[in-house]
Amino acid sequence: MSKSNETVIILGAGQAGGQCAASLRRGGFEGRIILAGEEPHPPYQRPPLSKAYLSGEIDESRLWLQPPETWAKQDVELKLGRRAKRIDADRKRVIFADGRETAYSHLVIATGSRVRPLPVPGADLEGVRYLRSIADVDALKADFQPGKRIAIIGGGYIGLEVASVALKLGAIPTVIEAMDRLLARVAVPDVSEFYRQAHEARGVAVRLDSQVAALKPKSGLFSRGTTVRSIELTNGETLACDSVLVGIGVLPNQELATACGLETGNGITVDETGRTSDPAIFAIGDCAEQLNWLTGKRLRLESVPNALDQAKHAAAAICGTPPPKPDVPWFWSDQYDLKLQTAGLIGDHDTTITRAGDDETPRSFFHLADGVLIAADCINDPQSFMAAKMMIAKRAKPDPAALADPDVAMKDVMKAALAGG
Ligand code: FAD
Repeated sequence: MSKSNETVIILGAGQAGGQCAASLRRGGFEGRIILAGEEPHPPYQRPPLSKAYLSGEIDESRLWLQPPETWAKQDVELKLGRRAKRIDADRKRVIFADGRETAYSHLVIATGSRVRPLPVPGADLEGVRYLRSIADVDALKADFQPGKRIAIIGGGYIGLEVASVALKLGAIPTVIEAMDRLLARVAVPDVSEFYRQAHEARGVAVRLDSQVAALKPKSGLFSRGTTVRSIELTNGETLACDSVLVGIGVLPNQELATACGLETGNGITVDETGRTSDPAIFAIGDCAEQLNWLTGKRLRLESVPNALDQAKHAAAAICGTPPPKPDVPWFWSDQYDLKLQTAGLIGDHDTTITRAGDDETPRSFFHLADGVLIAADCINDPQSFMAAKMMIAKRAKPDPAALADPDVAMKDVMKAALAGG
């Protein structure tokens, strides 16, 4: 059990850090909890940044993980604008950028990830933007005016969500993707194709197989600008634009861990409780790489459910309470009127089964390996998503014909599969 003279410092007041602080108190931790984040905002959710917050449907106050005043009520010391500079693991101390030093009994690193910079000439021009924080969206909103041409570099979830908001606000988005399909890193070809068609049908220009060579300002006989005005592709083509949004992935914020001697790979290496190679230090969320219970592989997952799950496990380990049941990894994305919910992880599947929707539009895709359901992508189909998540957790073998048949209710497909029939 935790003792009241212990101190937990959580570095990074984001989705994972905030959840860990709340779970520590809920789990009965009686000592000091210091939740220190470099941003000026209380812990907030990032998913709405590329969705309802960008479109202006919700304001900042709807982003907070919990009402800001409730942190103090839970006796969590929220230190905002406080960047950790160094960890002294031998003396169990954190040294902050403002020179303060604080001792800990347990340290939780929840520093998340940062955007991958675009490595081409002109990437530092004005009007070239990224999307990770509230501040980024506030800067981006000015570009989303009717008639403005927004070039989106990267056809992953963030790029596609931004394209759908841009269109809604009357701007003219073009998605530029280096690979031969959208969502190439995270989805199977059928899902990529579904989204390409969905975007093109609504008026988004999608450029596949397109590598960016350089970003260019306006240049002319009498004026040379510093704001991006065009994109040069490696095939020599030039695309005119008024602004650029770069969404080409993220990098884990693991430098504090590496510098203090913790084991790292693609993220900070942790065990199933979130503990690093130093027993007093945990790492959770986007910055952590963990052996995934379902796949048996070391993975760094970038999703809210993963951040929450790992935060709860670390809190339980610190409190000395039983760990929660691990969740099947899942993710969602909202584009236009399409809600995608993904359960499990693709990669090892050998078969994909498509289940048609009411209007014959493919609605869900199930991915199997040796007959075992390992992942599912469900579009506007929450019943299939919930059933798939349960079957994935149990490593069930659903009947492929029943999965493909929209006339067989998913709850019946699941019942039969869980009964082993
Ligand atoms: P974060 O929430 O990023 O928090 C980390 C915090 O640590 C940050 O505030 C950072 O500033 C701070 N920090 C970093 N270094 C230091 C330091 N040295 N000292 C102090 N503080 C530091 N996931 C989904 O599941 N579904 C979605 O639809 C979805 N949409 C997304 C849309 C956008 C635009 C973005 C950016 C992400 C989205 N994600 C989505 C991913 C999800 O938000 C992240 O996986 C989640 O926020 C990870 O939580 P985290 O606590 O690890 O990191």
